[in-house]
Amino acid sequence: MGGRRKVPVGKCPRCGAPHYGITAKEVQGRTYLYAYHGTDGRGKPIYCYLGPADGYVAAESLHVLGLTNLESADPLEIAFAAASNYVVRVKHAKLEEPAEAARRLRRLAEDILKLAEDLERLAAAYSKP
Ligand SMILES: [Zn+2]
Repeated sequence: MGGRRKVPVGKCPRCGAPHYGITAKEVQGRTYLYAYHGTDGRGKPIYCYLGPADGYVAAESLHVLGLTNLESADPLEIAFAAASNYVVRVKHAKLEEPAEAARRLRRLAEDILKLAEDLERLAAAYSKP
């Protein structure tokens, strides 16, 4: 690392602050990931624990969706953020043909509607005497 000026390489998925790289530490055969935030006033390194390496893919995709707090992430919020992110990517990054993207999104919305109807049936069954 040396005394060179450090440039942040990304936003920490845990706390949202800029970090200078992800480091891996192996403990008893498992690999854990940490974001390095530089050093404190006394030169002690500051790390954020990100989780086991095999679970990190999920954390990284949450970060892409702008969700930094993994504990309180609502699954429906994640789903909506993912769909919104997809639309932005179709519009700006020409990820997919807009017509095909719209069809896929509509199919997903219909599947989600079926899930809601499933829960409504369950609620109706519960409310019967
Ligand atoms: Zn952090």
